[in-house]
Amino acid sequence: MSSLSVENLRVSYAGREGAVVALDGYSLDVAEGSLTVLLGESGCGKSTALNAIAGLLQPEAGRITLGNQTLFDRRPGARHVTTAPNHRDIGMVFQSYALWPHLSVLENVMYPAKRRGADRTEAARAAHEVLKTVRCDVLADRYPGELSGGQQQRVALARAMVARPKLLLFDEPLSNLDAGLRRGLRDELARLHRQLGFTGVYVTHDQSEALALGTELAVMDGGKIVQLGSPENIYQRPVSEFVARFFGANVISGDLLPPGRLDTVAGTFEYHGNTPVGPVVVAFMPHAAEIETDTEGKMHVSAAMYLGSHWEVRLDGANEEVLVEQPAAQTPPAPGTRVRLRIPPDKVHAYPARP
Ligand code: ADP
Ligand code: MG
Repeated sequence: MSSLSVENLRVSYAGREGAVVALDGYSLDVAEGSLTVLLGESGCGKSTALNAIAGLLQPEAGRITLGNQTLFDRRPGARHVTTAPNHRDIGMVFQSYALWPHLSVLENVMYPAKRRGADRTEAARAAHEVLKTVRCDVLADRYPGELSGGQQQRVALARAMVARPKLLLFDEPLSNLDAGLRRGLRDELARLHRQLGFTGVYVTHDQSEALALGTELAVMDGGKIVQLGSPENIYQRPVSEFVARFFGANVISGDLLPPGRLDTVAGTFEYHGNTPVGPVVVAFMPHAAEIETDTEGKMHVSAAMYLGSHWEVRLDGANEEVLVEQPAAQTPPAPGTRVRLRIPPDKVHAYPARP
């Protein structure tokens, strides 16, 4: 069952050198109860997509529906519909906490409930309850200026959730927090999603955040979704060099020869995928490869760094560079040693080389 449906959106901005097309033919289905993560580099159109769903900007074309409500319709020939943001039954959490500084935590969280028609007592009860779920009930009487960034973001989350909207939108909500807090709040969000089962669209440029949080992942590039699927599926089977790189894969050039043999400077690998024979780029994750010393090897160890949990080993050769992560207990060969790699067939990907 699809809760949110986005069809064929087109959004462009007036730029100094003409219009910038931010989204073109952009479509996305978000199932009820899923937390769909839009993942991509800065400028790929993530915020534009969220803002269009929230009604903060008007696309030039397309349709957006939420459950059985049409939020926006500007398809050719269709009757135009634009539902105002405050009638969309959507809660939103931004990167900047955007709390009202002159209202207490409780008043901030009560506000959406009151706007929905709840009386003061009812709104206060709902606000206390949701503050408890984000573990901020003891902060109810404080003002935003008296809270840490992490606390402010929890309160912003409570405010977005209090009216139990049909859909929650998150625009890089953890990006302003330092690393430790970010991880804590990320896990908290995952817990809340499991516990409350809300439907959400979550935007981030951070792969590990996306993998940890998403029940569905949509990888975006240049205003388009380039891969959609479960985190495991995308991580294990990136459809393109772009997606593989985005998740931190090594990429080197190679030749795909029949029957399924990949020739590269790092070694020869068995290949079981669908890419046609010919010049290719080969991608694999740093932890998927195993180093073997080989006096005939075309690459050599250039550096090795012990990181406690594992070794990071850099290889060099024939204008290619590779990073390998190997178990901490396995001391890598000395710098200068000639080596080749072993990679299991299900961990090596090949894509047609760009001409
Ligand atoms: P993201 O959130 O993925 O970083 P955005 O949706 O903010 O990306 O932006 C997508 C593209 O649209 C970028 O090229 C950006 O420069 C452009 N853009 C976004 N907002 C505006 C604006 N208000 N005016 C002009 N260009 C914009
Ligand atoms: Mg953005």
